[in-house]
Amino acid sequence: MMDINCLFCNIPTDRIISESDYTLTIRDGFPVSEGHTLIIPNRHVKSFFELHAIEKAAVLQALEDGEGSPGQ
Ligand SMILES: [Zn+2]
Repeated sequence: MMDINCLFCNIPTDRIISESDYTLTIRDGFPVSEGHTLIIPNRHVKSFFELHAIEKAAVLQALEDGEGSPGQ
């Protein structure tokens, strides 16, 4: 669900590291450390805790997938 006002719906494709059915993993535009990465759920929610169980699992899987690969 695209939202014209959403920063993450309009992310430059060169910042996308990986995608899944429920998540988007991107390089942070203003990294505070090397390899600073954001994992964004596809569905617009205010908090991680509003996600459905399958979406939370996908976020955690994306986190696991990115572990140990700073600056990927
Ligand atoms: Zn969005």
